[in-house]
Amino acid sequence: MDHDLKATVEFHGRIIKAPDDELLSADTVQIPPPRKAQIHPTFGCQVCGEGFTEICGRTASGLAVCMDCFKKLTERNAWPERV
Ligand SMILES: [Zn+2]
Repeated sequence: MDHDLKATVEFHGRIIKAPDDELLSADTVQIPPPRKAQIHPTFGCQVCGEGFTEICGRTASGLAVCMDCFKKLTERNAWPERV
């Protein structure tokens, strides 16, 4: 067995046989709570009717649309008739 392999096997053996308190520690920590989530109003997409939050929508040709409809419309460059 070459020296590196022998050293690796011995190292792994020490880890496997070591008592838990030598390998692990657990302490209580103080972590501030995360901020409260922002609540945004929900709108209905004027193309498909799907609900979306204010920040997830887009406007195009005067219509408020969901992201999926926005992507489809902009990919095809085909806008629906105004409602
Ligand atoms: Zn939509």
